[in-house]
Amino acid sequence: MKDPLRKRILVTGGAGFLGSHLCERLVTQGHDVLCVDNFYTGTRENVAHLLDCPNFELMRHDITFPLYVEVDEIYNLACPASPVHYQHDPVQTTKTSVHGAINMLGLAKRVKAKIFQASTSEVYGDARVHPQTEDYWGHVNPIGPRSCYDEGKRCAETLFFDYHRQHRLSIRVARIFNTYGPRMHPADGRVVSNFMMQALAGVPLTVYGDGSQTRSLCYVDDMVDAFIRFMNAPDDLCGPVNLGNPEEITMLLLARRVIAATGSTSKIVYRPLPADDPWHRQPDISLATAKLGWQPHTPLDEGLAATARYFRACMEAAREMGAHAV
Ligand code: NAD
Ligand code: UDP
Ligand code: UDP
Repeated sequence: MKDPLRKRILVTGGAGFLGSHLCERLVTQGHDVLCVDNFYTGTRENVAHLLDCPNFELMRHDITFPLYVEVDEIYNLACPASPVHYQHDPVQTTKTSVHGAINMLGLAKRVKAKIFQASTSEVYGDARVHPQTEDYWGHVNPIGPRSCYDEGKRCAETLFFDYHRQHRLSIRVARIFNTYGPRMHPADGRVVSNFMMQALAGVPLTVYGDGSQTRSLCYVDDMVDAFIRFMNAPDDLCGPVNLGNPEEITMLLLARRVIAATGSTSKIVYRPLPADDPWHRQPDISLATAKLGWQPHTPLDEGLAATARYFRACMEAAREMGAHAV
């Protein structure tokens, strides 16, 4: 007889940075986990350590196409997340957010599964409200280079709430703020991976603009904890719920903290600020704290040290394979 606590859980984008940590946690909890990924930015290596687990299955599939499986819960994480990756093929990025959401919502509707959406702080755009609360509607350029991601995620939120209202789907919409940690792609161009790889290689760290823009960085283990709490929260909590670390830091200070965490002798150089780069970003997480009893615990220096160990290992593995770059 099936254990009622053991669920069949689909994780789309499960071979990516956040998805691989989520799959790992759910497998450890004893659930049957189906990881679906088209390996656009994620890799088989990210979940290689799970492949021998009898309660883990990996399927190559693009969620812009229909998917027919039987599951109890869906975490919809599939979508490139770094600006470099999502701007590489912007049309595919929008398709993944919009067509992907429709397919996953259609699946959830057919099998009556609970469905979680990995939305983003980018729905607030270059925010004029600081810190950002969930009731802020955002300040988004609909036609700029970041729009494929921002507007795709906004449309996905609309679809989630319309499926909820129209078809009574049980939804969870999380607005995720910048998250970092092991298994970030070393070449994804995000600030933590760039700074880490540069510091470990002993080359200058590239601060964009004058480095006074801010982000609030959450360690991956804390974020995964929030995902699972949210999925297991009562059905009336649809969201959106901000998830992130309210501790804000300038990019210049972050560069210095990465240099310290890696013991690097690298210098800092300044490069032009990309178009539409949000100026400040800091989550108000009162809702998550009140409703989920959640707040992040990992101090930045501890998270950076763990991330540095991962990137150092990546570089050593690449060196052993005779590669010149990771
Ligand atoms: P990631 O790029 O490491 O992971 C995304 C995964 O989705 C990859 O494995 C990729 O191959 C897969 N994918 C992309 N398009 C797909 C498609 N059409 N079909 C199937 N798989 C597809 O990024 P991440 O940082 O792990 O982000 C995961 C999710 O969280 C994304 O939806 C992202 O928008 C959201 N998010 C992340 C952050 C962050 O700071 N990491 C912040 C806000 C939101
Ligand atoms: N879908 C899917 N798996 C399922 C059920 C539906 O991928 O198990 C997709 C299918 O492509 C469909 C979409 O989800 O077009 C939306 O489904 P819905 O039932 O909401 O609408 P439909 O277009 O079928 O009327
Ligand atoms: N950034 C930087 N140097 C880099 C990469 C990024 O100064 O090598 C800055 C970028 O301009 C932005 C912040 O760091 O202000 C965070 O960028 P990221 O791409 O990680 O994520 P975003 O929050 O912009 O989506």
